[in-house]
Amino acid sequence: MTLILEQRVSLKPFNSFGVDARASWFSRVQSVADLQRLQDDARLRHLPRLILGAGSNVLFVGDFDGLVIQVALPGVEPGGRTDDAELLRVGAGQSWPELVEQLVHSGHPGLENLALIPGWAGAAPIQNIGAYGLELSERLHSVRVWEASSGTCRDMWPEECALGYRDSIFKRDEDGQRIIVSITLRLPLRWEPITGYTELERELAARGCTRPSARDIYEAVCALRRRKLPDPAKLGNAGSFFKNPVVERARHAELLERHPSMVSYALAGGRYKIAAGWLIEACQLRGVHRGRVGTYERQALVLVNRDGASGAEVLALAHEVQERVHEKFEICLEPEVRIVGA
Ligand SMILES: Cc1cc2nc3c(=O)[nH]c(=O)nc-3n(C[C@H](O)[C@H](O)[C@H](O)COP(=O)(O)OP(=O)(O)OC[C@H]3O[C@@H](n4cnc5c(N)ncnc54)[C@H](O)[C@@H]3O)c2cc1C
Repeated sequence: MTLILEQRVSLKPFNSFGVDARASWFSRVQSVADLQRLQDDARLRHLPRLILGAGSNVLFVGDFDGLVIQVALPGVEPGGRTDDAELLRVGAGQSWPELVEQLVHSGHPGLENLALIPGWAGAAPIQNIGAYGLELSERLHSVRVWEASSGTCRDMWPEECALGYRDSIFKRDEDGQRIIVSITLRLPLRWEPITGYTELERELAARGCTRPSARDIYEAVCALRRRKLPDPAKLGNAGSFFKNPVVERARHAELLERHPSMVSYALAGGRYKIAAGWLIEACQLRGVHRGRVGTYERQALVLVNRDGASGAEVLALAHEVQERVHEKFEICLEPEVRIVGA
């Protein structure tokens, strides 16, 4: 198959914020051989690189003067079995929400709590996607990467990937030299529902599900997400713009004394995760409009492109949110979204 390589390409169709920016070079790769061909191309070898999936967790604030590689390797195939799990090898370009839907509906439970998270499988380990009480790390067997330095692929095990809350070793790879080409998932042979997340528990109770199946959980998660989050096809956004900050016990107690309605969750090791959405809302910043951008009416943590805004406009709002939260709570909100071209 011919390798697609174009110059001066608009990235607007390739990011869920729907902001315009240009890449000097753009290529969509479908195989490891394509990656090697780009590597061998003398025109491209020394250019800065950006690796892209579906673009649902990036904000372009300027043009990208380099090569954007959209990693669209296809395929889903059985990867064998361990004592307690069925393994599934998934190409980096596989749509994540479609994969979860297909698995749940074909009787392969395990990923239902991660339903409807936009993006492609190859990006899932980057920030260790998580939702409704489950993180990818609990279902990840290994990650296959292609390394430009050697031109070869190798498997990385979860320990080496250093997966944490919206974090992994890949988050620090900004030079595009290590590329995820596939991931292998572990689907539990003895499936147990994960229903401890309060909002999900309530939704299941409201639906009368006392012993929920994977399909019940899938449907409950989809309903919750559709109610709470804007559809990027209608309103540009990248989901939660900031991470939930994590604080020590003493700091948490002090904040809670001053703000008794603060929403937070206890973590292992005596630390607490504070709901960034609550912090932003407490600064009266839910549903605000700033020109062509704003925060979403139903979830303050989601910044939205209301009408053809630029990435710089979104970033200016992000800075305003950070400043206001810092002024009121002395907490620094860290972006979850990757900001490119700042
Ligand atoms: C409405 C909405 C809701 C969301 N909800 C959630 C949620 O509940 N939980 C959650 O965790 N996230 C959520 N997200 C964020 C997003 O869906 C995930 O981060 C997703 O995994 C991004 O996939 P992508 O293919 O779009 O990645 P991109 O946005 O294209 O890339 C994200 C990062 O991964 C890198 N990358 C992408 N592919 C590769 C690859 N093959 N090899 C190496 N690096 C790569 C990029 O360089 C970039 O740094 C949401 C986003 C939206 C728009």
